[in-house]
Formats: sequence, C-alpha cells, structure tokens
Amino acid sequence: MRHNYEKARERMVREQLMPRGITDPRVLAAMNTVPRHLFVEDAFEAQAYGDHPLPIGEGQTISQPYIVALMTQALNLKGHEKVLEIGTGSGYQAAVLAQLCDKVYTVERLKSLHIGARKLFDQLQYFNILCRIDDGTLGWQEHSPYDAIMVTAAGPKVPEPLLTQLADPGVMVIPIGMERWSQELVLITKEQGQTSERVIEQVRFVSLIGNHGWQP
Ligand code: SAH
Repeated sequence: MRHNYEKARERMVREQLMPRGITDPRVLAAMNTVPRHLFVEDAFEAQAYGDHPLPIGEGQTISQPYIVALMTQALNLKGHEKVLEIGTGSGYQAAVLAQLCDKVYTVERLKSLHIGARKLFDQLQYFNILCRIDDGTLGWQEHSPYDAIMVTAAGPKVPEPLLTQLADPGVMVIPIGMERWSQELVLITKEQGQTSERVIEQVRFVSLIGNHGWQP
C-alpha cells in the first residue's frame, strides 16, 4: 500500500501540534514541510507521523512530533540565527531547525547515526546544516557563540561548555534530570551577562553521554 505522507503530515500539524499550543506559524510550516518518514527506520515509515517517539537505530529515538515542535518554538527563531544542536540522531530535528534559521551546527557521538543523517541532508539538499562526530557536551567551540542551542538528549546538569558557547543574548533548550525515565525540559535565557531558567515540560529523553553528561 502506498501512503499519502503529505496528508499524514498535515494531519499531524492540525491534530497534534495546533491544539497543544504550537502557534508560531513558521514552526508549523516547518513541521508541515520536513519529510519525517524519511528519517525513521524503514520498518516504522508508515508510523512516522504518529503521536509518539520512534526508534532510529543504536537504541536511540526520534522525539514525538509535539516535543520537536515545542523545543523548536521555545527558541523563537526569526531566520538570521546560528544554532547548535547536540544529538543529531536521525537528523530530523536539525532539518526542522534548518528551515527556520541561517545555519545549523549539529554534533552526534555515534558514527553510524552521523553518517546516516549526513546522507539525508545531502539528498534533501539541506546545505545549511554542518555535522560533526564528537562529544557534544563539549559544544563546538570553533563556530561559537551560538544564538540558540538545543540539546536532544538528557544529562544530569547543563554542560558548562554549552553555557559558555551561548551568545548573549541567547537561548538554550535542554532536558535535565537525575532520573533515567523522567526529566524536565528547561529553557535557559542569557541576557546582559545573566542567565535565567524556566521549566517548560516534563519529558523523557535518551541519555546525554559524555564528559559533561552521563558516563558511558
Ligand atoms: N535530534 C535527534 C534525536 C536523537 S536522540 C533526532 O531528531 O533524531 C539523541 C541523540 O543524542 C542520540 O543519537 C545519541 O547518540 C546522541 N547523543 C547522546 N549523547 C551525546 C553527546 N555527548 N554528544 C553528541 N550526541 C550525543
């Protein structure tokens, strides 16, 4: 059976995002554009637009569409920004960000996921995404400071290098928690040398593993 992914995507936006407070028209348009079904494992393609996370290989997951949209909206992107993402995974979140800012720098620690994402970015012609294999808890110093930072794996605390590499003014969204199965999605704002934090939502992410995250 052939699936009508455009319809499924449009329904995802209408039924999962709009009623839950995703109102930024640019975020809704990006979610309505990026072909999520190409970023999941083949066996899950038909479920790609469902209201849940999905496996992407290596024991990792792509977040539920609502969480992707919520984190993206929290960054309040206007189009000129340089954004750092930690945890490339499938590349889906990076592709959504790429629709909304000037350049996306994304770091992944696992080689196979990095390679898969890079292939998709080439294929879909996302020329404003740069990828790297490394421990993302160290950030990506070379291109810093970043107007916005998004971390898509959860650690016990905010990695210090990411705070340093965040521009002023700048905004970061990151899941933080001492528990494996429950964390808080935190929005960090830097302005005139001061940082402030606000919890947006209870979430559940895979572990952020690295120097300033959990030990492997
Ligand atoms: N944003 C991804 C979500 C992937 S899940 C997507 O849209 O598909 C989180 C990812 O973070 C996993 O691929 C995991 O390997 C990666 N990760 C965990 N710790 C990391 C670290 N220290 N540096 C970079 N990537 C990390």
